Amino acid sequence: SSVHDYLREHIRTVPNWPAPGVQFRDITPLLQDPKVFRVLIDAFVHRYMDKAMRPDVVAGLDARGFIIGSVIAYELGVGFVPIRKKGKLPFTTVEETYELEYGSATVELHTDAVRPGDKVLLIDDLIATGGTMMAGKKLLEKLGATVMEGAAIVDLPELGGSTLLQTVGQLPLFTLVDFA
Ligand code: 5GP
Repeated sequence: SSVHDYLREHIRTVPNWPAPGVQFRDITPLLQDPKVFRVLIDAFVHRYMDKAMRPDVVAGLDARGFIIGSVIAYELGVGFVPIRKKGKLPFTTVEETYELEYGSATVELHTDAVRPGDKVLLIDDLIATGGTMMAGKKLLEKLGATVMEGAAIVDLPELGGSTLLQTVGQLPLFTLVDFA
């Protein structure tokens, strides 16, 4: 549709960053232009304002998930909680470690960030292998919350993450732009 094309046109592709052979999809131009930023946020807000889709809490993944997740939460009138890379959160946390192409990563969430039974919307900027979003889902579930949906600006379907999240992870997904 026109909204999807409009957003796609404002994502910058940076070749060979952060490593040779990687095509990095840079979402900063979407944030920089106030008209585009509004179209972007409104696309999410429109979906989750609906009574049946409205979450209790928005959780954002470090770090670009914070930028859009907090604005979406504010517009929905619900709270925002950050899922951070290990070592950044000051209070007691739960943690989840997941495998990367080289090595592993650990993410953390404050133990009082959500309550058992909370319906959570989990937000990031982009889904590649799906590892980051899967780890976020597991953290929220450790605290007894239900992740109603995962949402991102960009999906890279050829990396298989979105399929994995929806099948193995049983997580419904909402994304705005695909890049093959
Ligand atoms: P995954 O865990 O799905 O493999 O990778 C997704 C995570 O890595 C997200 O947190 C995302 O911010 C980051 N990421 C990986 N590749 C890209 C990319 O090309 N563009 C952007 N904006 N983020 C990326």
